[in-house]
Amino acid sequence: MSKDLLRRLPSVDELARDPALGGALSTHSRALVTEAARLAIDVVRDEIREGRRRSLSMDDLPVIALEKLRDVTAPALKKVVNATGTVIHTNAGRAVLSKTAMDAVMLAAGNNVNLELDLATGGRGERDCLVEGLVKRLTGAEAACVVNNNAAAVLLCLNTLAEDKEVIVSRGELIEIGGSFRLPDVIKKSGCVMVEVGTTNRTHPADYSSAVTDNTGVLFKAHTSNYEVVGFTAEVALSELAEMGRKGGIPVVEDLGSGTLVDLSRYGLPKEPLVAESIKAGADIVTFSGDKLLGGPQAGIIAGKKTLVDGIRKNPLKRALRAGKLTLAALEATLRLYLNEETLADTLPTLRALTRPLAEIEEAAQKAATLLRAGLGDGFTVTVEDGVSVVGGGTLPGRGIPTKAVAITHARKGPDAIARAFLANDPPILGRINKDRFLLDMRTVERPEDAVASLPPSWD
Ligand SMILES: *Cc1c(COP(=O)(O)O)cnc(C)c1O
Repeated sequence: MSKDLLRRLPSVDELARDPALGGALSTHSRALVTEAARLAIDVVRDEIREGRRRSLSMDDLPVIALEKLRDVTAPALKKVVNATGTVIHTNAGRAVLSKTAMDAVMLAAGNNVNLELDLATGGRGERDCLVEGLVKRLTGAEAACVVNNNAAAVLLCLNTLAEDKEVIVSRGELIEIGGSFRLPDVIKKSGCVMVEVGTTNRTHPADYSSAVTDNTGVLFKAHTSNYEVVGFTAEVALSELAEMGRKGGIPVVEDLGSGTLVDLSRYGLPKEPLVAESIKAGADIVTFSGDKLLGGPQAGIIAGKKTLVDGIRKNPLKRALRAGKLTLAALEATLRLYLNEETLADTLPTLRALTRPLAEIEEAAQKAATLLRAGLGDGFTVTVEDGVSVVGGGTLPGRGIPTKAVAITHARKGPDAIARAFLANDPPILGRINKDRFLLDMRTVERPEDAVASLPPSWD
């Protein structure tokens, strides 16, 4: 029986010439099509030998070969519908760029640009100049430069200002951000020696001052962006630390994490510290991310005293960590939106998602629910209910924003199965599971029809 099936397997060449695969040759190379044919035959041969296949029809092999071809040629990076309610979703690429930022990326992608070109002289320019003026204006800092992300910004600043020296940091601020950013490790990798002071819940000015030695390079402060220490607590204000640094001639560096450029309480959202406030409080250097609440591309922005930023720019590590033209294009366009705060909630997608009126979210949820009831069919129950969105990206922990979500349950299948089915949609729809129910939070979904999945063939 299996011998008979094996004998009926075509040769690789025969399969590659099969008309059902022939179309593939108009878009893919002969080498790739042949490779796919070989893989398909291997798969089927193994299935027959292991007793997992007892029949072979004419189109089985071309179908498998086309799947193998798709595995190699289909883009790995896909659009995902973020219906999680987490506005800045790190695993889904954080901030969605504004229209003007996308246009700027397209321009920089398809053209030569004045990335490091002084257009007045035709001589060499400085890439950071593209955004430095805007960062200075929006934060009050004397100077600024840009690297790949905030982790790189912290690494570069500490390495420049305190290599082989001590960095003093409060035990209450030894943060870990997801994706293996752990402050003690970053300080070590910067070539610095970490000196922890205070306790987990309380750190006082004297803890810092008594730890200062001749070898102190930086007084460091980290914004505990993804957790809060509550209860019997004390932390040293940045202004106090800055005063201490000024007296001792020791630079004060603050890792602000999210780095907000507008006061979110203006929009009825919880307050997140502003970069400008840290500069005003006397931080010598502030570092923050470009793709968290700022709403731009992945980037790390370093803002602060000119003499220090000049030194940071000269560090050879800066060359290794510098941002590319696409990033700088998107960042410049994003920062430019901040010049008009009146329209920012419309122009910046991150802020738009955070400030979307509840009535509008509910309307989108009702529309999506109607479409889903019609599309999903028997066994499903679809309702609209109150929910809680979060900012995400390690910001404003525990501060939810009221939202409306579509809840989907099934008579026989659990929330994990429903979540997997929505992920199998094209494009994948990423919801969240809460209290054993699958939810689609519509805050982050502009068009109701985007939340509608067609069930995979494996669903029954
Ligand atoms: C997010 C965050 C980082 C890491 O920033 P990336 O831009 O993701 O590298 C570092 N420190 C703090 C306090 C953060 O919140």
